[in-house]
Amino acid sequence: MATHLRGETSLEEARFVLFSEETYGLFARALRELTADAIFVELGLKPNSEMVADLVELEPDGRIKIDAQNRTSKPGIFAAGDVTNVYAEQVLIAVGEGAKAALAAYEYLLEQPVEEKAATDTWR
Ligand SMILES: Cc1cc2nc3c(=O)[nH]c(=O)nc-3n(C[C@H](O)[C@H](O)[C@H](O)COP(=O)(O)OP(=O)(O)OC[C@H]3O[C@@H](n4cnc5c(N)ncnc54)[C@H](O)[C@@H]3O)c2cc1C
Repeated sequence: MATHLRGETSLEEARFVLFSEETYGLFARALRELTADAIFVELGLKPNSEMVADLVELEPDGRIKIDAQNRTSKPGIFAAGDVTNVYAEQVLIAVGEGAKAALAAYEYLLEQPVEEKAATDTWR
């Protein structure tokens, strides 16, 4: 946690307090201060799931709940990637999850009953 940033036109000093989640607030003596020349600011991630918020179940933080086949709580709606509750936000994981979702959607479509006989089976 950054506690102090100093500098006129650029950063000259930054101080952080290091803590572990378990000890924070409980064992103040376990905290350690670190002085650094530079910092990387990590922005929080906010899942852009508003468009399906009324359709599928979401986690309290807004991520879409999916099962191992990328199915959401609504049959026929699949989700993949960072917007879901899958572990870790990484490109390779998102790509794999996208492939899984596509396969699961394909399988879902194959299972749907065919309502009308095709008008013709001749290719045009
Ligand atoms: C700064 C940064 C650095 C990263 N570095 C790494 C790294 O080094 N290695 C690594 O593996 N991963 C890294 N990641 C994570 C990686 O980028 C993500 O895990 C990955 O891009 C997730 O892919 P995605 O398809 O789920 O989501 P995204 O790549 O976020 O794609 C979602 C797409 O949906 C679009 N979209 C959103 N809402 C709507 C809407 N309502 N209508 C239409 N389109 C919409 C967005 O514009 C976007 O194009 C990094 C991420 C960030 C932010």
